[in-house]
Amino acid sequence: MSSLFYIGQPISGQKDDADLRLGRQGTTILQLAARGVAFLPGVMVEVAALREDFEGLFSIIHQQAVPQIEKITERILGGEEKPLTLKITLLSDVLLESNPSISWLGVGDQNLGSLFEEVGEAVSLAAYRAWLESISEQLLIDSLAKMPLSAEGEVPDINSLNLEETQSRLQEDIARESTAQLRQAIEILVSNYDTDSLNLALPAAILIQYLPVIDQDDTQTKGWFENRDQSSGQCLGAAHIKEQYGQLNPAQVSVLEESASVLENWYLNLRQIEFLVDEGNIWVTEQSDVKKSVQARLRLLSDLFRSGQITDRIYLNTLTPAELNSVFQPKIQLASLVGMICIRGGVTGSPGACCGRVYFSARALQAAYWQAKEENADSDFILLKESTHAEDFKAIQLSRGVITSKGGYASHAPIVARYLGKTSLVHPEIEYFGDHVTLGGQKVIEGQPLTIDVQDHAEPLICFGQAEIQPALPDSDDLKILLSQARKKSPRIKVRANAESEIEARLAVEYGAAGIGLCRTEHMFLEGSRLEMLRTLFLSENEQIMADVQAELGRLLTVDLQKLFRIMDGLPLTIRLLDAPLHEFFTADVDSGRLKNRIKQINPMLGFRGCRLGISMPELYEMQIRSILAAALQVFTEEQIGVHPEVLIPFVMSEREMAIIKKGSSAAGFAIKGFNAIISEMAQAAGLEKLPFDVQIGAMIEIPSAALAAAKLVHQAEFISFGTNDLTQTTLGISRDDTVSLIELYEEVDIWEGDPFRYLAEPVKQLIDHAVHTGREVRPDLVTGICGEHSASPDTIRYAMGLEMDYVSCAPRSVPGAILSAAQIHLEREE
Ligand code: PEP
Ligand code: MG
Repeated sequence: MSSLFYIGQPISGQKDDADLRLGRQGTTILQLAARGVAFLPGVMVEVAALREDFEGLFSIIHQQAVPQIEKITERILGGEEKPLTLKITLLSDVLLESNPSISWLGVGDQNLGSLFEEVGEAVSLAAYRAWLESISEQLLIDSLAKMPLSAEGEVPDINSLNLEETQSRLQEDIARESTAQLRQAIEILVSNYDTDSLNLALPAAILIQYLPVIDQDDTQTKGWFENRDQSSGQCLGAAHIKEQYGQLNPAQVSVLEESASVLENWYLNLRQIEFLVDEGNIWVTEQSDVKKSVQARLRLLSDLFRSGQITDRIYLNTLTPAELNSVFQPKIQLASLVGMICIRGGVTGSPGACCGRVYFSARALQAAYWQAKEENADSDFILLKESTHAEDFKAIQLSRGVITSKGGYASHAPIVARYLGKTSLVHPEIEYFGDHVTLGGQKVIEGQPLTIDVQDHAEPLICFGQAEIQPALPDSDDLKILLSQARKKSPRIKVRANAESEIEARLAVEYGAAGIGLCRTEHMFLEGSRLEMLRTLFLSENEQIMADVQAELGRLLTVDLQKLFRIMDGLPLTIRLLDAPLHEFFTADVDSGRLKNRIKQINPMLGFRGCRLGISMPELYEMQIRSILAAALQVFTEEQIGVHPEVLIPFVMSEREMAIIKKGSSAAGFAIKGFNAIISEMAQAAGLEKLPFDVQIGAMIEIPSAALAAAKLVHQAEFISFGTNDLTQTTLGISRDDTVSLIELYEEVDIWEGDPFRYLAEPVKQLIDHAVHTGREVRPDLVTGICGEHSASPDTIRYAMGLEMDYVSCAPRSVPGAILSAAQIHLEREE
């Protein structure tokens, strides 16, 4: 078996073997060259074989390999005219940063004169000097390695060498004749590498390659280019190369184009390519990674897939779900920055872009937010603080973004912001002066608008003013192809979205969601007058006022839901009846202590949540159910659009609760009209025997007792959806709003492996397992899903797929990542 590999020749049949014998670096060069990258001609030699039989192998190098390079280049090693000049490099997988090398071997006294004529004196001498320097450096390393250790066992350093003696020894040691120089270069590189005995076991290669003597500063003979736009990923192609290097002829340009295409296909990434032109030939000298956006990579992968150059497996496995999601971050519209002062710098906390009025404390921001909501005013805010803590959670949730000056990527604000999908950056240059701060030297007061742009391929930007934010919509063709391939790979599990506004619902469909898995209706009541009306329902005891308000809220809800049904166009729309800790509907100045007697409570988190409120104030749920049915009927019958309504009952504890909501109660003093009766009434009112579409009712499992009672619950519920936020809170007994410091501490001392609000905790999984299995025993066609914030994480998706669940439902911007994640898990299982 040969130990020599020529660049540019196919190495089929030797690939695996070559990998082991030459190391990855060497093999990659050979593979790339064999595929068409125009690397400078050369030969690669296995280091292990050189160790075994140096003389034998060197004579092959000398008698066969060098003549081949001479033939291609029409130059002669050691020749007086047109000398062949070489670069000898040691390639090893342990030396990825810098490979030791000796450059321009072959330049010497015998041919300097002819080189002067070819390329000029300065260029020839620079090459000669570079050769002397590189060979001297390697000889020096060798001398040092051979010097005895000091009495203390210390390795000698360069200062301990006698310079004069070393210089004269080097002069003697450096070989004079070209073939001897080649032998010496190979020997010294291998010997220096072998000095570290650990390297002996690792594959390595010596690369002997033509290196022409050219003017390193001459842009006519040297250059570099990128084949794609770093931000959009658009292929720039030949026109771009021609524009940059007008002197190149079409054949040369197409060599570069071909090389670029092979390289991006191999690395599945954008590359920067350096080249040189030598006697009409164009050669690739270096190629390296470049900074780029994920969107650019998505475009590249789509192009490669569309043109059949990569398989769907590679296509789907290259980007991580988190990378894909980052494509959907909003970005700043640069044109809107004209005339605005902007500074760059800081650390990316959570990517995105936003603008809003800035507040320096959670309290001030929350007050401003609620006031803005009440006044129907702009409610975009940015929180700016030295650092954030657990008590700032709510303010971050209400804000568009967070700027902090302490900490880094893993500090509190960025972690929470990433968790909540907000933009965050850490900017160290903030000084605090009570009523104002200075940010990068600029004075900022509370209420002043700021814009931040934090992208993963550029330094964060802060602008002092209100800029336009471009919503994150990538080239939808790229996205559509990727997502449709991904969906084909994971046909069972569906990814739905948690959405209630028209914008989010459209986004969800655009991003490939298979419906809405959680429409939190309380979010539809948080706006100005609606919030006021809802408060009236909780506070007023006047029946007429209540009836009027309820009718109006019902009407508004119907209109909103019609819009969602239209957008879903037949896809499932899971509408959750009202659930929120009641204090979320009140600001500090509205006393929630004035709640109706029947819903008074001390601890809102564990008080009248979900169906408990629905059973205590049945008129509320009745109004909601009627609105859902009215909306679906209107869209289905009047507009002939398919509807798939699912009504989700939150915070269920027992079958009895579900039975009351579904079938009603006629107990004295506790008469409740049930879901079934409302359906019949609505059908009758529409002149129909029954509704012309299916309406399913489901239980949201978010407290352990519901999970334990699943076998009974599913007598009443056609589907179950796990609200893992509350299920985590109620299973572990930890508050979901203010336990970040506890979580950090518990992670630090290994009580939890990760944040249980991001990664499903074991006891929560046990409850879900139990509910799914026992539920299916009673109702084999039970539809199951997860709709808490855990849903988008690949861990949760893997878990849900393991249980053969029907769907996960997550934030719209996380939908693409979740779809990709499901496909990747499926592919992994197929292997
Ligand atoms: C949950 O508890 O997991 C859930 C989705 O509901 P919410 O976050 O609205 O309480
Ligand atoms: Mg919940």
